[in-house]
Amino acid sequence: MPASTAQDLLDRVVVVLMRTTHPGNIGAVARACKTMGITRLRLVDPVASINDEANSRAAGASDVLDDAEIFDSLEGAVEDSVLVLGTSARNRKMTWPVGTPRDLGERAISVLSGSDLTEDSTVALLFGQEASGLSNGELQRCNFHVCIPANPDYSSLNLAMAVQVMTYEVRMAALLSCEASSVDLAPVLTPEDAAWDDALANGREVDGLLVHLEKMLVGIDYHDPQNPGTLMARIKRLLLRSKLDKMDVNILRGVCKAALNKSNT
Ligand code: SAH
Repeated sequence: MPASTAQDLLDRVVVVLMRTTHPGNIGAVARACKTMGITRLRLVDPVASINDEANSRAAGASDVLDDAEIFDSLEGAVEDSVLVLGTSARNRKMTWPVGTPRDLGERAISVLSGSDLTEDSTVALLFGQEASGLSNGELQRCNFHVCIPANPDYSSLNLAMAVQVMTYEVRMAALLSCEASSVDLAPVLTPEDAAWDDALANGREVDGLLVHLEKMLVGIDYHDPQNPGTLMARIKRLLLRSKLDKMDVNILRGVCKAALNKSNT
């Protein structure tokens, strides 16, 4: 049965933690998940218990902790998963299908959007123990490995932060896949096109600014029209990349005017 909204898709994502040792991390994971609309947490053979510290780090996400399922094996935790994405801070020796968080977030959502799933099918995001990560055997249970492309000299994220990055990517993929149908997501999805505080400059205004800029650059002896090189072309490219609004144009023209006045005195 295909899911229809972004939340339907996210409801089929499970976050699986292997042998987590710190209760605070379990709480922080619950919070990270809930902020991204993912509420299904599975703990495999947890060393830590869900205690006060976990609840305190979960902040308003104690419900995710309350509903967390405990498994004694990874196999049990991913039994209903049609796709298992294993996260690892390091590149392991063995070759395995790999992807970026973004690519695999999209893949997770495209799998969950398929019509060939049963109602209880899930996609699992699998995370390792704080000190040791996932074992080779656990990684071999995964369809794909994903490494968050962090600083190569310091690439190991805190467990909950790794969960945050992955769940964010899955959420983004879900929102984008449902973009057309979800009105309330539009501002989140298209920040570029969200209502701007000033109207965008039109071509005439941009051209007027360019003429003014060139005049000013000549006036302050920065630009030699006899030997123009690519300066004006580069400035134009810069301005056209930046989605200038009318106020931006006014400010820059004010700068041109002031610089020209100064150069004439
Ligand atoms: N020392 C361990 C790191 C464990 S950090 C190791 O080298 O694997 C705990 C978990 O957080 C990891 O098992 C993984 O699930 C996740 N994690 C941390 N950094 C990550 C990264 N850069 N990319 C993907 N997952 C990461």
